[in-house]
Amino acid sequence: MNKSHAPFARSTAATAAAPVVTGIETVILDLPTIRPHKLSVATMNGQVLMLVRVHCSDGITGTGEGTTIGGLAYGGESPESMKTNIDTWFAPVMIGQDATRVQALMARVGQMVRENRFAKSAVETALLDAQGKRLGLPVSELLGGRRRDRLPVAWTLASGETARDIAEAEQMLDLRRHRIFKLKIGARGVREDIAHVAAIKAALGDRASVRVDVNMAWSEGEAAFGMAALADVGCELVEQPVASTAALARLVRRFPVALMADEALTGPESAFELARVQGADVFAVKLEQSGGAYNAQRVATIADAAGIELYGGTMLEGAVGTVISAHTFSTFAHLQRGTELFGPLLLTEEILTEPLDYSEFELTVPSGAGLGVTLDEDRVAFFARDGIRKTISLTGGKV
Ligand SMILES: [Mg+2]
Repeated sequence: MNKSHAPFARSTAATAAAPVVTGIETVILDLPTIRPHKLSVATMNGQVLMLVRVHCSDGITGTGEGTTIGGLAYGGESPESMKTNIDTWFAPVMIGQDATRVQALMARVGQMVRENRFAKSAVETALLDAQGKRLGLPVSELLGGRRRDRLPVAWTLASGETARDIAEAEQMLDLRRHRIFKLKIGARGVREDIAHVAAIKAALGDRASVRVDVNMAWSEGEAAFGMAALADVGCELVEQPVASTAALARLVRRFPVALMADEALTGPESAFELARVQGADVFAVKLEQSGGAYNAQRVATIADAAGIELYGGTMLEGAVGTVISAHTFSTFAHLQRGTELFGPLLLTEEILTEPLDYSEFELTVPSGAGLGVTLDEDRVAFFARDGIRKTISLTGGKV
């Protein structure tokens, strides 16, 4: 042993040579969607992205994204709250700190900022992007190494109209873009929803997998009736039919249809509790819901240990949020149910200089350094919400 070797430093304060965070910049983008997206909790007619850029003293900038489904209709954070909280609370905690120790810096943020999982996911993404660019490695390699380069991608049929949904599914099959379809139900009566699912499954037959997402809209009694009927019409998976973990645990494995937890999963602790009570067959892992890439990996590890299958979920993120999810899911030991990383395809506008590759029913995980994508700055500036762009910097204008 080399006796002169320095002990591990406990502080996250930067050493003399380490690049530090010099500025945090946030911007909100309002982007139109290809059609209304109807969920039991909200109807989305557009998507709002909160982009965060972390600037570092070595000239490297990383980008992250915070996005919600219907803002506060879905959960406690909105793009606007993320922007405010990052500008006001995260930035002072992060500026001046070693930018290369991502987990240590996120632990520091965690001590100073409670909750705010989506905002934490966004800034962690930006730090990982910067560190990947710094080292010349894709983020997947910072996260332990990818196991796959391509991810199956489901499509959500959520127009609310049966004939329109069938036509949309046929179009996706023709384009060879998707062959797993998730139907958003729960806003109407159970019987009406079952008829809707049955008609779509009958039209698509064995050419496609049909699943449903109830977004917690059912009572336990409705779920018991609904899951039995859905199994009968060929639906293969029911996502979060009820809100509570206890009710999920009472419903699981009573019917020949897989039960997936989504909203009940809010990070490693809830994943452990769901696993403990055997409350799901499948976990829909979402980076933002988990509080970032590292926490999503912890959720996946808990699922693996409990014999629970995995699915890569989305909050309908734009390109940046989709790509950090792809990098993370590419590292999972198991990804039995594929992913739903179609968020950018729901938007009418491209904000990358080079679009993501969706082909042959899969998404390619980018292989360049960091996230491996480049924002089209003119497009970002164009779609930025007027009047609330804000810059915070130690360096006085560098950003
Ligand atoms: Mg869901």
